[in-house]
Amino acid sequence: MIDGKAVAATVRAEVAVGARVFTEQHDRPPVLATVLVGDDPASQVYVGSKRKLSEEAGIRSIHHELDASAAPERLLELIDELGADDAVDGILVQLPLPDHHDQDAVVARIAPEKDVDGLTATSAGLLAQGRPGLVPCTPQGVMRLLEVAGAEVEGAEAVVVGRSILVGRPLASLLLNANATVTVCHSRTRDLPQVTSRADVLVAAVGSPRTIGAEMVKPGATVIDVGVNRTDGGLVGDVDFESVREVAGAITPVPGGVGPMTIAMLLVNTLRAASARAG
Ligand code: NAP
Repeated sequence: MIDGKAVAATVRAEVAVGARVFTEQHDRPPVLATVLVGDDPASQVYVGSKRKLSEEAGIRSIHHELDASAAPERLLELIDELGADDAVDGILVQLPLPDHHDQDAVVARIAPEKDVDGLTATSAGLLAQGRPGLVPCTPQGVMRLLEVAGAEVEGAEAVVVGRSILVGRPLASLLLNANATVTVCHSRTRDLPQVTSRADVLVAAVGSPRTIGAEMVKPGATVIDVGVNRTDGGLVGDVDFESVREVAGAITPVPGGVGPMTIAMLLVNTLRAASARAG
């Protein structure tokens, strides 16, 4: 069992050390600006956790809230202001946004050097080209879990189920950059079990409960479950944990696997952005 909670705590402790050194060197802490639009309760909880864990790691959190009814231009203006503000190292706009905002346009407006979610086209392009840049938090967290689990990625058959901009695509790039042989599956994949059962490293980022069953997993494979699905029986992943754990060599639980890594990697990105900006 890969304990994401414990690994995330280690990563946050590493960031705290780095943030302390940064603060001593530059006479100010790294700064993360969060932006929340509207009053979606889940988004409020996510932003609250990001702010709290930032502060605990020695990263100063500044926060802006706009009404759900705020004009799209106002949000873009705010992102421009934060982009131009020398005291801000990272900008995080909590997604999803209310429907009348153009999410792609909002993300595109974030200054690439402050793109701590790694979602701008600049960040995605750098990652696709295998060049240094800010990498989306959840896939970066998956790579750290693979490292801690001792999974051999180089030369391995890695299969990613899901091709979203947030998870599947950047993860495929990260695995390729780490010299895996990568296959990306999606809803049109013809024979999913045939492909997944080849995987030494299998990552599920589907958004559908228990899509990956034991018969789809190669014995001994490392299985990372990114999925978070709310069911009557509580939170479950995209992997049928109870059956797959019997076959897999290592597996992440849900909750307590990938989830805690996402915020930890946001803190890593903020420190990285601050250090890069400070030269
Ligand atoms: P998404 O944008 O909905 O993408 C889902 C992907 O899965 C799509 O590429 C889709 O294919 C593919 N897919 C759907 N049904 C499939 C099937 N039956 N067989 C094969 N592929 C299938 O979701 P996402 O944003 O990547 O998120 C995926 C899951 O991870 C969700 O449960 C989400 O809540 C969770 N998540 C967790 C974290 C975390 O911090 N733990 C962070 C982000 C996301 P098409 O492209 O063909 O439609």
